[in-house]
Amino acid sequence: MTKRQSGILLAGACLAVWGLALAANATTVLLQEYKSGVVWTEPKVVAAGDMPGAAPADAVVLFDGKDLSKWKNGENWEVKDGYAITRKTGISTKDAFGDCQLHVEFATPAKVSGKGQGRGNSGIFLMDRYELQVLDSVDNPTYFDGSCGSIYKQTPPMVNVSRKPGEWQTYDVIFEAPVFADDGKVTKPAYITVLHNGVVVHNHFEIQGSTNFDRPAAYVKHAARMPISLQFHGNETMFRNIWVREFAALVGKPPAAK
Ligand code: MG
Repeated sequence: MTKRQSGILLAGACLAVWGLALAANATTVLLQEYKSGVVWTEPKVVAAGDMPGAAPADAVVLFDGKDLSKWKNGENWEVKDGYAITRKTGISTKDAFGDCQLHVEFATPAKVSGKGQGRGNSGIFLMDRYELQVLDSVDNPTYFDGSCGSIYKQTPPMVNVSRKPGEWQTYDVIFEAPVFADDGKVTKPAYITVLHNGVVVHNHFEIQGSTNFDRPAAYVKHAARMPISLQFHGNETMFRNIWVREFAALVGKPPAAK
């Protein structure tokens, strides 16, 4: 078994244990929660404008509202009326992506239940491990670096642009994948820029490593391209209109010598 396979198994086991705890509504703490200790200022609330978001011609459409055939475990989620509802497990793209522009639309459950991290929780995992949090963050206190638009346990969004429960919201993400040397050291960290409902909430934020519930962020070498995953966290959060574009800077030729 490779390190990556064992890591995936371990992560899967952790998620399964956490899922069981959620399912049983257990009060037993199975994992020791990691807390960064950083004291954040509360993100200011900003009302969003109208919805942007149609896919450009060269985008890879990952979900057009009809089926989740481009996702592993997509059959576990319910698709109806042009959107998908989280169920049973997380889902991951069958294809892998590196540097990319990603558009995702989501809505937290219209019927509000639970509180804090238990309300409308899902998440978008770039490269299967760097989470852009999805949460109902309207009048729902929780730690700021776990609120909607946060890079989980690393930084809150600069402002809180959340729409109300049941209303459709957008994420537009520009993600730069990390680069690793052969010995596993990071030669270039990952960076993320995020517009939430059209408003910038992260501007080229340097991701500190994988986003974890129970331990500090850390980089572990992985492939240059990895799947994008959507989290199942026990809440019926909805998704629609998901598309991605990989990008690479153009390389120009120097002017010809005269
Ligand atoms: Mg989450």
